[in-house]
Amino acid sequence: MQQKVKYLIVGQGIVGTWMSYFLQERGIAFRIINDSQTKSATSVASGVINPVTGRRIVQTWMIETILPFAIASYQSFEKKMQVDIFKKATAILLHPSEQMKESFDYRLAHENVYLFKKDAAAMNSFFNTPFGTGAIDECYWIDLNKMLLSWRTQLSVEGNYIEAHFDSKDLTLHEKGVRWRNMDADKILFCDGIHSLDHAFFNTLPFAPNKGEALIIKVTGLPTNQIYKSKISIIPWKDDLFWVGSSYEWSFDNEQPTALFKEKMIAALDTYLKLPYEVVDHITGVRPANIDRRPFVGLHPNHPQIGICNGMGTKGCSLAPYFANQLIEHMELGATIEPEASLNRFKNLFNR
Ligand SMILES: Cc1cc2nc3c(=O)[nH]c(=O)nc-3n(C[C@H](O)[C@H](O)[C@H](O)COP(=O)(O)OP(=O)(O)OC[C@H]3O[C@@H](n4cnc5c(N)ncnc54)[C@H](O)[C@@H]3O)c2cc1C
Repeated sequence: MQQKVKYLIVGQGIVGTWMSYFLQERGIAFRIINDSQTKSATSVASGVINPVTGRRIVQTWMIETILPFAIASYQSFEKKMQVDIFKKATAILLHPSEQMKESFDYRLAHENVYLFKKDAAAMNSFFNTPFGTGAIDECYWIDLNKMLLSWRTQLSVEGNYIEAHFDSKDLTLHEKGVRWRNMDADKILFCDGIHSLDHAFFNTLPFAPNKGEALIIKVTGLPTNQIYKSKISIIPWKDDLFWVGSSYEWSFDNEQPTALFKEKMIAALDTYLKLPYEVVDHITGVRPANIDRRPFVGLHPNHPQIGICNGMGTKGCSLAPYFANQLIEHMELGATIEPEASLNRFKNLFNR
């Protein structure tokens, strides 16, 4: 039997989750098509929102707008779903060099919003801190796997989740919308992460896939209410497990874990961490990054019944709620998409 919804969404990573969440909040009919066997960057991400970035420890793009929106969104998800997935967690900076300490001290004295001093003695039972410590306020940690699973379960119960592999051969475009298998929709929205490169609608966008690896380690006695950052990040994962990473590889042949990465992490852990640990897993994923480090948000210039919300790069946790909502407001209310994120900037890449 033919079914009709307003939106079809491809992919239930963090972007597809927020897209469907906001549609549901507005009472708009949708279905999400997701292949849980296709790798998702969200499922291996450490789940951190950090308002500062880089060696110079500067504020991240649009953080003053994006952070309050993200906080309100994750808190509303927790309330609606009755799950505990979102925590404020100070990031302790274990300065890896004199230069990084100086960079921190400089930023602390100039245009500082999020940094504060931290007494290194507090970390001495856990870490070697030869260059001292600092801290970042307003960092948050999201239990992404718990979030995705709880939402998937809810959507399945409601009949809004379709476990299937999307293949563009199954999609027909017509003037007023799209048809996928037995489903008619006004629009189809691609939230399929790096897999947008696998079909012809958006594969001309300047994606720059970035592989990331992480170890999961077991450490007993390390406080789980903080994030630890040095050359590597050590992030609470669950119970006494911690996520350790990551690599940022622009050139790679496959998504397999590498021995080299594992060696590097173990060397770094042995340098900093004083507590005994055990490696229990080694995970990898590919970030949907792109050359100008801004998301891809909007409708296809030649096929307005096709949209995309993608290109979140290293910042899916903070950017996804804001830009999923912005695309909905654009489609439903004609709101303007942030020009730096809008698909319009790549209009000339789409051949008719
Ligand atoms: C190691 C690592 C660490 C990271 N740490 C952080 C972090 O701490 N904080 C942060 O903000 N970001 C982090 N990121 C980046 C973050 O993971 C991404 O920005 C974000 O997850 C992208 O989400 P997405 O929904 O666009 O893509 P994905 O999570 O990849 O989701 C895409 C979904 O589409 C589905 N799919 C794809 N193709 C098809 C198809 N043909 N048919 C059906 N379904 C399909 C997939 O199964 C998946 O569920 C990290 C990334 C990596 C790799």
